[in-house]
Amino acid sequence: MRFETLAIHSGREPDPTTGALASPIYQTSIFVFEDVGVTRGYDYSRTANPTRKALEDCIAALEGGKAGFAFSSGMAAETTIMHLLKAGDHVVSGDDVYGGTYRLFEKVMKDFGLEFTFLRMDDRKRIEEAIRPNTRMIWIETPSNPLLNIVDIEMVVDIARRHKLMTVADNTFATPYFLRPLEYGVDLVVHSTTKYLNGHCDVIGGAVVTATDESTERVQFLLNAMGTCASPFDCWLVLRGIKTLAVRMMQHEENAAHIAIYLEKHPQVKTVFYPGLKSHPGHEIAMRQMEGFGGVVSFEIEGGIEAANSFLRRVKIFSLAVSLGGVDSLVEHPASMSHTSMPEEVRRDVGITDGLIRLSVGLENIDDLIEDLEQALEHV
Ligand SMILES: *Cc1c(COP(=O)(O)O)cnc(C)c1O
Repeated sequence: MRFETLAIHSGREPDPTTGALASPIYQTSIFVFEDVGVTRGYDYSRTANPTRKALEDCIAALEGGKAGFAFSSGMAAETTIMHLLKAGDHVVSGDDVYGGTYRLFEKVMKDFGLEFTFLRMDDRKRIEEAIRPNTRMIWIETPSNPLLNIVDIEMVVDIARRHKLMTVADNTFATPYFLRPLEYGVDLVVHSTTKYLNGHCDVIGGAVVTATDESTERVQFLLNAMGTCASPFDCWLVLRGIKTLAVRMMQHEENAAHIAIYLEKHPQVKTVFYPGLKSHPGHEIAMRQMEGFGGVVSFEIEGGIEAANSFLRRVKIFSLAVSLGGVDSLVEHPASMSHTSMPEEVRRDVGITDGLIRLSVGLENIDDLIEDLEQALEHV
């Protein structure tokens, strides 16, 4: 089956007791044993729950993985993955990863004895030089947040295999509709399902997809041991969102591409960051490894912080809010909103300037969106 069909049908059997087509919300903590030591496959919802299982199977099918796991948030998924490591292990990570990822690594996991090196993932030599005898994992995010940098996944996987390292790809921005990292040999995919997979700005959730029996067993063990699982209702909402993932992503991309082209021509705009633009440094790699460029567009406005603030106050349809990936168009200012957990000098090095603005382009009418940007830029 192809993507659109899998998105609608995977993980869903008509309910065996009633024939309900939509997956029921199994809002229960416990499942009664049939006999001493005999269950019907479920005993306690932290370990496994049928609504969660439906979502997990669906995400695994879309990513082409062995198994999927649903977590209470993207950060819960990431925290759980970090527990595949132990004190003394070293991780090489992209330097422009999600702000919360940076915070988890630097401000939490470091205190448990993990070591991190953050670097731009665009140069084989630089990545190889960062690898130490205790390196265990390479963490990538592509397209990255908020600069939409593209990581060459095949190159990273090749380096990782030579050094026997685990690779983890945060696939939140691209979604499996545009990119399936496991096909390139990545070991684990992580998602914030809060974003495109759910797509309606009404759930916090996360997911992990594994590629091998060994990692499946370990992630299942950790999810249960750490209790980082998602609730049945949240799983049901994400599953519902995924049914329309393909059509949503197509339209997000169409709207985003229009806006990127519009902004590139605007005199008030210094630089546009969108991998679909020929001017984007990662365009060639994105063309090769992705089937589309996604719905997030960042740009640097002329005039720095003053101009950015004025723009942010004037947009009307774009809501001033963190997060992304929903039907609603959102605008945010990474330096003062999503990336405050990154120290200022690190933000500078990475290229998150005070004039940088990130748009999560929603599914409203494109003419309305352009008019909104137009009136806001006009008055800057
Ligand atoms: C939002 C996000 C996360 C964190 O997910 P939550 O659901 O907010 O915990 C991780 N990675 C990326 C790329 C994100 O956008």
